[in-house]
Amino acid sequence: MKFKPANKIQDLQYFGEFGGVNPSISDSSTYTFLSAKTMFDTFEGNADGCYLYSRHTSPSNLYLGEALAAMEGTETANVAATGMGAITPALLQLCGAGDHVVSSRTIYGGTYAFLKNFTPRMQIETTFVDITKLETVEAAINKNTKVLFCEAVSNPLLEVADIKGLAEIAKKHNIKLLVDNTFSPLSISPAELGADVVLHSLTKFINGSSDTMGGVICGTQDFIDSLRSVNDGASMLLGSSMDSMRSASILKNMRTLHIRIKQHSKNAQYLAEQFENLGLKTVYPGLVSHPSHELFKSMMNEEYGYGGLLTLDVGTLENANNLMELMQHKNLGYLAVSLGFYKTLFSAPGSSTSSEIPEDEKVEMGLTDGLIRFSIGLDNDIERTFQIMKECMVKLNILKPELQELV
Ligand SMILES: *Cc1c(COP(=O)(O)O)cnc(C)c1O
Repeated sequence: MKFKPANKIQDLQYFGEFGGVNPSISDSSTYTFLSAKTMFDTFEGNADGCYLYSRHTSPSNLYLGEALAAMEGTETANVAATGMGAITPALLQLCGAGDHVVSSRTIYGGTYAFLKNFTPRMQIETTFVDITKLETVEAAINKNTKVLFCEAVSNPLLEVADIKGLAEIAKKHNIKLLVDNTFSPLSISPAELGADVVLHSLTKFINGSSDTMGGVICGTQDFIDSLRSVNDGASMLLGSSMDSMRSASILKNMRTLHIRIKQHSKNAQYLAEQFENLGLKTVYPGLVSHPSHELFKSMMNEEYGYGGLLTLDVGTLENANNLMELMQHKNLGYLAVSLGFYKTLFSAPGSSTSSEIPEDEKVEMGLTDGLIRFSIGLDNDIERTFQIMKECMVKLNILKPELQELV
């Protein structure tokens, strides 16, 4: 049967302690035990269902974790205070001194900086590869490799990872495949395609209201237990735990995720097609011109579309900045980093979210100065949005003169 991630979220039922339709928020950092023996057993990890201390976990965090695990089809999940607060412990739980990571070279700037600049201090080395070339990926694996890391749809270049192919390679070499699925929740289900661990920044689409940070690690019960271990669990000991108030609010927002993703995708698909028709350099996985369009199609849960992210290359940083300022002035969206908001958000990744990447590497991977990343919003009238965007581009001479007449 086809995997239906939104059904699995909706089928979960949690009630509040007085029969409330929402689960009660666990407004406590610590928990009492009826007996000293149970407290001891809980520390040893032998008392299921008992709560200890909210850095370890809390009822509210478990509810949110179970909803995310249901969405991704993993045994369980551990929520974290931020996306980086999920990604970093997941990597550190699996790698120690002398170990090696093979990572896609086009990933979120923070993850890139962590692997490039921070983990070498702990003698964890990373080889960055073009994730779309499976032979290159496999060739980079050595006897110390523990982890293969990628994003299902990459930030900001929107490269698509062949998760099935990568999972085969990971299995063959007995290493773990970690997939950051922040850009494509519901559209792509990496665990269904063979990923061992699925990561998200909940800050983006999943929460969807740009009012809080959050992250999650979805995986096997064994892996999540190891992360929470009081003795050597990276999530427990590094302490990036989510607050219960926030997990309760994110859980409520998750209930509309399927509706939002459909609208983000529909709007992005429309704009991408229109931009491309105008002769603009547009990258969107839903365009037939995208090099991995067919791959995305073969992996996706069709009803959710190709996601809310697209990029436009307007030639120069000056063009990009002028266009973003004008679009903001016309109330088409906000000049801001991040994604997954109801408003369209745009930024020039070369000089912002990916500024951690050295100049020569940016050139090699195609991260140009004129690139604008759009997170397309939930606009009710995307045709109107497009008309005004087009007028902005004409005003700034970004459109070719012959096309300007069409406006
Ligand atoms: C934002 C983001 C992160 C980091 O998440 P935070 O919540 O900002 O810590 C990681 N990966 C991707 C793909 C992101 O977009």
